[in-house]
Amino acid sequence: MIKLHNTKTRAKEIFTPIDPENVRMYVCGPTVYDRAHLGNGRPVVVFDVLYRLLRHVYGPDHVTYVRNFTDVDDKINATALARQQAGDPRPLEVLIRERTEETIQWYHDDMDALGALRPSIREDRSEAGLRKAEPRATEYIGAMITMIDGLITSGHAYAVDGHVLFRVRSYKNYGALSGRTIDDMIAGARVEVAPYKEDPMDFVLWKPSDADLPGWESPWGFGRPGWHIECSAMSYELLGASFDIHGGGLDLQFPHHENEIAQSSCAHPQASFANVWMHNEMLQVEGKKMSKSLGNFFTVRDLLDQGYPGEVIRMVYLGTHYGKPMDWTMRKASDAQVAVNEMAGILGTSGQETLSNLKIGQPFPWIVEALKDDLNTSLATNELRRKNLEKRVSRHELGEHLDDLYASQILLGFDLKAHPQALAKAQSFDETRGIVNVRGDALLSPLAADLNRLRAEASVTKNFSLVDARKDTLIAAGIEVRMLKSGVELLRGPNFDPAKLESLK
Ligand SMILES: [Zn+2]
Repeated sequence: MIKLHNTKTRAKEIFTPIDPENVRMYVCGPTVYDRAHLGNGRPVVVFDVLYRLLRHVYGPDHVTYVRNFTDVDDKINATALARQQAGDPRPLEVLIRERTEETIQWYHDDMDALGALRPSIREDRSEAGLRKAEPRATEYIGAMITMIDGLITSGHAYAVDGHVLFRVRSYKNYGALSGRTIDDMIAGARVEVAPYKEDPMDFVLWKPSDADLPGWESPWGFGRPGWHIECSAMSYELLGASFDIHGGGLDLQFPHHENEIAQSSCAHPQASFANVWMHNEMLQVEGKKMSKSLGNFFTVRDLLDQGYPGEVIRMVYLGTHYGKPMDWTMRKASDAQVAVNEMAGILGTSGQETLSNLKIGQPFPWIVEALKDDLNTSLATNELRRKNLEKRVSRHELGEHLDDLYASQILLGFDLKAHPQALAKAQSFDETRGIVNVRGDALLSPLAADLNRLRAEASVTKNFSLVDARKDTLIAAGIEVRMLKSGVELLRGPNFDPAKLESLK
């Protein structure tokens, strides 16, 4: 039983798919004009976890996940125009195409690095199937024209001066998703007043294009679609008029999702469009809104290039529930690093041979339960971490559970076997960043050496009271203590508090 918070009803509900044989999810994808920034990565990872959970519960061949590429947009045109003005002699059309292709490639590279699975049409893992699951707006212009045409016929849209506009006041539930009234929205001044609009709230379904901009022939002249109609047309083509889940960032709730609902509900009045709406909250960096002017703007690629493994970035995302605003901090990245090292260590330090024999078992039930409770990823990752560290599930004692541990990691999107370089990268990461290093920790290394010495002495005297007392002090300071045969290992835990080590100095 999966429970999800539905924005539409503002409640956590039991999720019941329309067809358990084909659970269908649509997530708004990127406009492909630039690298994905750190905030753009969050919904990708959030909905990747949901996708993995749905596949686990309903079976990997019974989930369809579609995420679009918006490859027609004024921002894309502007970047291509800038290249032309900088002296590139090629036609704008070629430059636009080049820009979108390049950006899609970047997006795939960066999101793959975060461990996100590519969307797919149920069981179809062929190249064509995967491509279909990531539809490009420019390949669905015909479907958009058909939908717009229908909206005009039913009186929900009107054509004027080469534009087609959606008549917002013709749809009485407009604003229901975000809980706004039309008058609130007008007061919010996010509407563009134009002489050809009947009402300032009306939004563009189609607009005219100059001869040198991308455009298509339509009943309303040469032009291009508005942004919102894309998602309505593509979700209809690929998932049908009613489907299960629609996701995206909270910033898309209004106007984008309100507009999608208005278009789709008016085009297919008998259908429900998306039953569950899910929105992830926004991301800040060190407590501040990410912005180029503040100098705290990062793309996912910037962080990867700085040496942050994708697994670490993913772990930071998963540390905060998707419904809460999240703050990216160096401290969290450092802590996530320790967590990823632990995961890799438990699988990896048992030797390459063990790693290659590792099979995917069944994820631990408590991980699955945490995710089923509205994707409680922070609980799932914390629990995974705690269990890892508990003696009874130490690597030595894991035995046959190692396959299940591996399955649990994969359910959260950490496939360290598929990325064996992650471990090596994880261990070199700390030195290059100059932050917490598991092994070379300047604060913990002498304490580990000390405990090692006490243990060696105790093994002769058979009096372990000093060792136990020292361990208690370290644990009280939030340190995870591993008494390995090869030596003592100390790790900074999530509640690490160096002030509690004062008595040992
Ligand atoms: Zn959309």
